[in-house]
Amino acid sequence: MQAMKMVDLSAQQNLIRSQLDAAIANVLNSGDYILGKQVVELEKKLAEFCGAKFAISCANGTDALTLVLRAFNVSKHDAIFVPAFTFTATAEAVVLAGATPIFVDVLPNTFNMDSNSLSAAILVAKKNNLTPTGIIPVDLFGLPADYQAIQQIANDNNLWILCDAAQSFGASYFDKKVGVLGNATATSFFPSKPFGCYGDGGCIFTDDADLANILKSIRVHGAKIASNGTIDKYNNIRIGMNSRLDTIQAAILLEKLKIFPEELNLRNQVANIYHDLLKNLDNIILPTIAPSATSAWAQYTIKLNTKKFNNKTLQLALENAGIPSIIYYSKAISSHEPYADFPRADLSVAEQLSHIVLSLPMHPYLSVDAQQNIANILQNLLLTVCVV
Ligand SMILES: *Cc1c(COP(=O)(O)O)cnc(C)c1O
Repeated sequence: MQAMKMVDLSAQQNLIRSQLDAAIANVLNSGDYILGKQVVELEKKLAEFCGAKFAISCANGTDALTLVLRAFNVSKHDAIFVPAFTFTATAEAVVLAGATPIFVDVLPNTFNMDSNSLSAAILVAKKNNLTPTGIIPVDLFGLPADYQAIQQIANDNNLWILCDAAQSFGASYFDKKVGVLGNATATSFFPSKPFGCYGDGGCIFTDDADLANILKSIRVHGAKIASNGTIDKYNNIRIGMNSRLDTIQAAILLEKLKIFPEELNLRNQVANIYHDLLKNLDNIILPTIAPSATSAWAQYTIKLNTKKFNNKTLQLALENAGIPSIIYYSKAISSHEPYADFPRADLSVAEQLSHIVLSLPMHPYLSVDAQQNIANILQNLLLTVCVV
């Protein structure tokens, strides 16, 4: 029997392999490797999918964040609020763009930015003589952040919102899809994300035409772009970057987009089955979904509700039983050495979570049998590990 995987990309590939082969062969035959017609078509379809006016693809999710921050012209006096419990790239992009990240605590039930902590962090920024400028809420594990509360604070303090939707493309919040919940939204097509390609890729969504034009220019070294979209390659009107989505990856994503809505349904089914199988187990707390939101289920993350052992102990025991699991995240980003000196609110929830969270295998093609097996092993371990 094949070993169980956290994310099984081969199941999806087997399903659409011939379409992928044809799409890739098309690009090889066309020779149009950079910003080819598939990139344009993908941007159009993704914008339609989420209801945004503009989609600007780029090289990866980190660049998607960085490009927007560059377009907003941030400087080191600008305080940008980021959750402490996230992947490095959220805070890294702020530093790369030359601004100052201020760390905000998260909510214990959704793992997303805590608006009360955000208010506290705004005061911290002011005390440090920084100008509160923008907020980067992260939709962790696929669940949209608490945008109503965050938008209120943004309005009161004149801040923009850049959504880090690297894990949540396909999710929704009230009647809106991820992609239209802030001034701009950044997502990632890293292979293991809910909507992934076969390499690196990313995209930015916005309704702001001026921002879209600046982003299109920055991703090609700051070139002047004519109103019909023609890039004046050797006329650079700003300092830019080289950050484009490869045509080959766009062609792959166009094929994957056809099955993406069904995959989102399957991810929800997998999450529901986990919920039914695990809901009566002692010592763990299952992920919550805000009633107003749907999740893209990038991860299914449980929390330990016991002082007798931590997530590392349980992860090791699961591994010995043949069940992969990952600790997202074993350390708050604010505790990593390069980020240790940036200002922060009280981060006790983020710090506590790093010892109790554990993400179980999650992908659209996880079988009920496999889930049953995971649940049985987990149940046994929770009983035995507890008495060690
Ligand atoms: C994956 C991820 C990113 C970065 O995306 P890349 O495409 O790997 O650069 C940013 N933020 C979060 C929350 C992520 O999970």
